Amino acid sequence: MAIRDILSYPDPRLRTVAKPVNTVDDVIRGLVDDMFDTMYEAPGIGLAATQIDVHQRVVVMDLTEDRSEPQVFINPEILDSGGSCKGQEGCLSIPGYYDDVPRAEWVHVRAVDQHGRTFELETDGLLAVCIQHEIDHLDGKLFIDYLSELKRKRVRKKLEKQARHASTA
Ligand code: ZN
Repeated sequence: MAIRDILSYPDPRLRTVAKPVNTVDDVIRGLVDDMFDTMYEAPGIGLAATQIDVHQRVVVMDLTEDRSEPQVFINPEILDSGGSCKGQEGCLSIPGYYDDVPRAEWVHVRAVDQHGRTFELETDGLLAVCIQHEIDHLDGKLFIDYLSELKRKRVRKKLEKQARHASTA
């Protein structure tokens, strides 16, 4: 178990499209453990492997405050979705920035868990939004891609400035 570094926008590695996991083995389970450690430490409610520079289709989530419902989605696929909603999102790779993002209201997702078992889930609300956000990461997409170019530029400037400060500190 280890805490890994989280890539920050505009790091180009966040644009990598992740590859499907062929076999859920101990290496993948080790990755999942590290991802939970990293996400809880941050702290956040979801993390895609892309964000720690591992380009395999693995997502972890826990929407509870007491860390009681860890969820693992390996090779997640949205089979169906519908409705629309708009809510404020943030991202561990875009620290300190939040904005409204249009999303489907509900999703029907299929994924594999850390034991290699395939499961399906139909859900709405925060979990549905979170699943869409994390699957976007696996496809190299960020929530700010849904915003205007002007806003995106502003975020980029702000984060580049923060990164410069951090490296000279
Ligand atoms: Zn994110």
